[in-house]
Amino acid sequence: RQCVVFEEINEAFSTQTCSCCGVIPASSPKGRASLRIREWICSNCGAVHDRDTNAAKNILAAGLRRLAEGIPAL
Ligand SMILES: [Zn+2]
Repeated sequence: RQCVVFEEINEAFSTQTCSCCGVIPASSPKGRASLRIREWICSNCGAVHDRDTNAAKNILAAGLRRLAEGIPAL
């Protein structure tokens, strides 16, 4: 149950975080209105994001980080 909550938070976070510079800019889609926004521009670095593509990149990056942490250093 805790895991599900964590994943939901992660999902919301992933749509708001710029996959280019890694920050959550003021211009990122937030709240209920964000569900209708398909494209947004990062006010921090100027990158243009497709909502789903940006989220996918962030989820992938988070997955790779998790994977890297799970592999013991040689
Ligand atoms: Zn950015």
